[in-house]
Amino acid sequence: MLETELRFDHLVLDTVRDFESIKGQHELKVGEVSSCTVLGDPDRLKQLLVILTGNALKYTPDGGTVTLTLECHGDEVELVVKDTGIGIRQEDLPKVFERYFRADHSALGKDPGGTGLGLPIARWIVEQHGGQIVLESESGKGTTVRVRLPACPLDD
Ligand code: ATP
Repeated sequence: MLETELRFDHLVLDTVRDFESIKGQHELKVGEVSSCTVLGDPDRLKQLLVILTGNALKYTPDGGTVTLTLECHGDEVELVVKDTGIGIRQEDLPKVFERYFRADHSALGKDPGGTGLGLPIARWIVEQHGGQIVLESESGKGTTVRVRLPACPLDD
């Protein structure tokens, strides 16, 4: 995997821009986005952002909100993707990082489709970068995904 110093905040803002035209009736918000540099593969990290933002929009009914924030805490950066969507039942939470697992989506009124590979790929990307990914969710209330990655010191 390519390893280069890159501005993670720029990738976050690029991703939000990419989703602007396809967010439908959702509100896609950017909270605090601090300047953060990480050592990593830009394509893989962009894929991570697309998976998490795409899931948040896909599992949130029209009119809901998806918010991305990025904070630097010393030698760590924390990305948070939070949605107000259908959430995940407690008994399904341990399974969401398993390959091909898909929960019940009847609360959406339709199955939005998918392979059940997005989150396993997201976790693989995070682990390849020496980080951790944690998903918290409550059925009917929404989901929050936190990604922590090692930070690189900023040049400026
Ligand atoms: P794809 O591989 O196309 O992304 P997918 O969305 O089904 O398909 P994953 O991204 O691996 O696959 O997610 C696994 C399951 O976890 C989903 O089917 C869904 O049930 C649940 N899930 C993931 N993200 C969310 C979210 N933000 N809100 C509610 N459920 C979610």
